[in-house]
Amino acid sequence: MFSAADNQTKEHVQIARLTLELCIDAVIWFRKDGGIEYANATACRCLGYEIDELTKLNISDIDPGLAIENWPEFWESISTSPRTFETNYLTKDGKLIPVEVASNTIVSGGFEFQCSFIRDISQRKRLEQREFLRNHILEMLAKGAPLHETLEVIVTMVEQENPLMICSILIMDKDGKRLLLGAAQSLPGFYNEAINGVEIGPCVGSCGAAAFTGEKVIVEDIQSHPNWVNFKELAARANLRACWSEPIKSSTGKVLGVFGVYHNAVFKPGDHDIEGVQNLANLCSIALEFHNAQEELIIRANFDYLTGLANRRYFMEHAELALLRHARNARPMSLAMLDLDYFKNINDKYGHSVGDFVLQSFGKLCKQTLREIDILGRMGGEEFAFLLPETTELQAFNTFERLRKIIENSPVLLENAPPLKFTVSIGMACLVDKKGNISSLLNRADNALYQAKQSGRNRLCVG
Ligand code: GH3
Ligand code: MG
Ligand code: MG
Repeated sequence: MFSAADNQTKEHVQIARLTLELCIDAVIWFRKDGGIEYANATACRCLGYEIDELTKLNISDIDPGLAIENWPEFWESISTSPRTFETNYLTKDGKLIPVEVASNTIVSGGFEFQCSFIRDISQRKRLEQREFLRNHILEMLAKGAPLHETLEVIVTMVEQENPLMICSILIMDKDGKRLLLGAAQSLPGFYNEAINGVEIGPCVGSCGAAAFTGEKVIVEDIQSHPNWVNFKELAARANLRACWSEPIKSSTGKVLGVFGVYHNAVFKPGDHDIEGVQNLANLCSIALEFHNAQEELIIRANFDYLTGLANRRYFMEHAELALLRHARNARPMSLAMLDLDYFKNINDKYGHSVGDFVLQSFGKLCKQTLREIDILGRMGGEEFAFLLPETTELQAFNTFERLRKIIENSPVLLENAPPLKFTVSIGMACLVDKKGNISSLLNRADNALYQAKQSGRNRLCVG
C-alpha cells in the first residue's frame, strides 16, 4: 500500500515528466554508450522524429560532427565540467540546424545520463550571418573593390552558408532590356554564357521574368514550368531543377538586376528562404547603386555634360598616356584641333539652346565616326581636340576628311525652321618620331586649324 508521502512523490514525478514534455527547449538524455534514452516532445518536433525512432539513434546520428568513438572522451569532459556549446544537429529530412546545447551529467539510483537542453538558434545565426555579410560588403564598397568582386563575395558567402543553393546575380543593361552576368561562379561556364545578355520578358525563365515584372518568380520544377520551355534542356545539362528569382531594386523602385537561386532538385522555398533572399537582393541593390553613383561621379568629373566628350583635363591626361605608349612602341599617332564655323552666328540667329543642340549633334556624329580607342575632347566652347592612336598621317587625313563631310551633310532638324547646316574646320598634325610632346603637337594642329579658317573654313589642313 502507498502512503500519503508515496502518493505525493508519484504526483511530483508525473508533474516533472509533464514539465519536461512542455519545455520549450529540446531535452535529450544520452546513455554512456552514446544511445538516446529519452527525448521530450520538443526534441522530436525539432529533429522531425517520432519518439520510438529517436530512442533507436545515438549521439552521432543527430550530431554528425561528433564521431561515436569520441563520445567517451566527450562524456568524461562534461562529467568533470558541465557546459554550454554550439553545434549543428541533423534532422530526419537531412537538414542541419544550428543549436546551442547545455549538457550536465545526472547520476541517480545507479543510472547515469548526460542530460542536454538543446535550443534551436537558426534565427540568431541567420541574423548574425546577415549582419556579417552586410558589414563585409559595405567595407568592400568603402574600399573601392570592383563590383564583380563584391558580387562574387556575396554569392560565395551565401553558398557556403546554404550548401544546397547555387546563386547567380544578373545585372540589367543600360537600356533595361537584357540581363548581364554579375556573379555566378558556381554555375557551369556554358550555362552562364547562354544566359549572359538574355532579353527579359514576362515568361523568360525565372530571372528574365522577375526582371521584367519587378516581382519575385518561383519555379519549383524547371522541367514542367511554361517559363522554362526554351531553357529547360540547357538547365537539365547544368543539372538545375528549381530556380527562384528576386528582383534587385533601386531605392526608387527601378529594377537594377535579379538575384537567382537554383537547386539541383525540385524545391519550394519556405518563408525563411524567401525572406533571406529578399535581404540579399537588398544588399546587391546597395552594391549596384553605390557602383552606379561612383560611375556617374567619374563621368561627371571627366566628361562634358553637353556633348559627352572628354573634358580638357581628361583629354590632356589620356593624350599624355597615349604619347608614352607611342614613344615605347614607335607607332604613329595623329591629332586634330576642330572648331565649328561661324558658330556665333548660329547662337545669334537661333538662340543659345539651338547652339547647344548643334554642339550635341556634333559630339554624337564624331563618336559615331571615330573609333573606341580615339580620344575625343571638348577643349572649351566650340573647340575640340581629337587624338587618334596608331594612325598614320594619311589614315588620319582620310578619317578627318570623312568626318568633315559627314558634319557638312548632317544638318540638325529644327521644329519651326528648315534644317540647320553647320560645318567644321580642322587642323591636324601627325607624330612620327619619338621626340614630340602633346603641347607641340597641339600647336602644330592649331596652326593648321588657323590656316583652314583663313582659307575659307569647312576644310582640313595639315600642319
Ligand atoms: P569661327 O568660324 O571663326 O570659328 O567663328 P565663330 O563664330 O565660331 O567663333 P567665335 O569664337 O567668335 O564664337 C564662338 C561662339 O561659341 C561664342 C560662344 O558664345 C559660343 N559658345 C561657346 N560655348 C558654347 C556653348 O556651350 N553653347 C553655345 N550655345 N554656344 C557656345
Ligand atoms: Mg568657331
Ligand atoms: Mg572658336
